[in-house]
Amino acid sequence: MRAYEIILKKRDGGALSKEELEFFIKGYVDGNIPDYQAAALVMAIYFRGMDTRETVDLTMAMVNSGERVDLSGIKGIKVDKHSTGGVGDKTTIALAPWVAAAGAPVAKMAGRGLGHTGGTIDKLESIPGFRTAMGIKEFVDSVNETGIAIAAQTADIAPADKKLYALRDATAAADSMPLIAASIMSKKIASGADAIILDVKVGRGAFMKTPAEALKLARTMVDIGLAAGKKTTALITRMDQPLGFAVGNAPEVKEAIDVLKGGGPSDLRELCLVLGAHMLVLAGAASDIGEGKGIMLNVLENGSALRKFKEMVENQGGNPAVADDYSLFPQAVHLHEVKAASDGFVRAIDAQEIGLASMMLGAGRETKNDAVDPAAGVVLCKKAGDRVKEGEILAVLHTNRQGALREAEARVLKAYVIGNERPEPVPLVIETVM
Ligand code: URA
Repeated sequence: MRAYEIILKKRDGGALSKEELEFFIKGYVDGNIPDYQAAALVMAIYFRGMDTRETVDLTMAMVNSGERVDLSGIKGIKVDKHSTGGVGDKTTIALAPWVAAAGAPVAKMAGRGLGHTGGTIDKLESIPGFRTAMGIKEFVDSVNETGIAIAAQTADIAPADKKLYALRDATAAADSMPLIAASIMSKKIASGADAIILDVKVGRGAFMKTPAEALKLARTMVDIGLAAGKKTTALITRMDQPLGFAVGNAPEVKEAIDVLKGGGPSDLRELCLVLGAHMLVLAGAASDIGEGKGIMLNVLENGSALRKFKEMVENQGGNPAVADDYSLFPQAVHLHEVKAASDGFVRAIDAQEIGLASMMLGAGRETKNDAVDPAAGVVLCKKAGDRVKEGEILAVLHTNRQGALREAEARVLKAYVIGNERPEPVPLVIETVM
């Protein structure tokens, strides 16, 4: 078998066999197939696509390129959750302890942010002392003892994805449906959970810009999960404006804690509730979504969801007092108010622009090796549908980089679309795929 022939076959629209995909992925990870041949194959896949069988085989070849985490030492059905990425998406931080308090074990491996979207690991590290590097034994023991652990994904999980992701990023082939599906699902399957819930984001701030594209991605990922023997459900949810009000690491963790206290923004609370109900059904802890929501609301109201969050923070070396005293989080030196230039209604907020503004203020990375500033970010004061008056505060910028304020402010102003009519409210959850 030769890499050249595999590239040629895909270039001409053929379907690659399981053996060809395994050969190529193994050869690429081992260094026997050079980047230029892998880039050519990736581009051929981008233009020619892949059928479901090929996408499943590609995913499994990527899973087998590294270690598969063995979570069998954890009692119960372990459900993993993944979001395809958005702005202000702090869902996992509220959802994971909330679901764990409701009786389903949560063993979650998470990633860092890149570009305009944030990552759970960077967010959690804004809690003073919080440790996200855990060996597998400690990870499994933590879940058995407290019902929850959130750890940084190790380099041994799907190493083929790491190489391919960087290649796709550099060759304008990142947004290929089969490649995105294989990338996400290879990491989920290798992480060892029994069942998977996927939050497929659609809209201006997401990879998928239209519901039809999001539906296709969701269907492909659910099919991959089922083929790998994992119960898998996907929700398609809107990501036109940021989720909640806070964007940035510490600001988002504070907002997630607000939800665990029974408050917080309504869109974030609703998303956690519905995802949590699905997770409880997948874990066998609820018989249907209605019962799942009831259990979730009960553990929120009786305080166990917040207690579980504090327990997780303490177990991972962080200071649980942050939940009661937000001044213990890192604070930005400069706070700058962005004010509306006209009266009207907020018709839309471009999530991507807000994400880029937050990144510029220090919350994100330009390159993989940059450090993030935990205190930086953008906290919105107005969301789509809100009425504003000229001079009213739209958002507050938090930063330690005074020099970045001007450009970030311009981006935030550009992100807000203000018009004369109140926009029609749109549902957060568009569809469920299972
Ligand atoms: N998230 C991933 O992990 N991979 C992709 O390709 C896109 C989003």
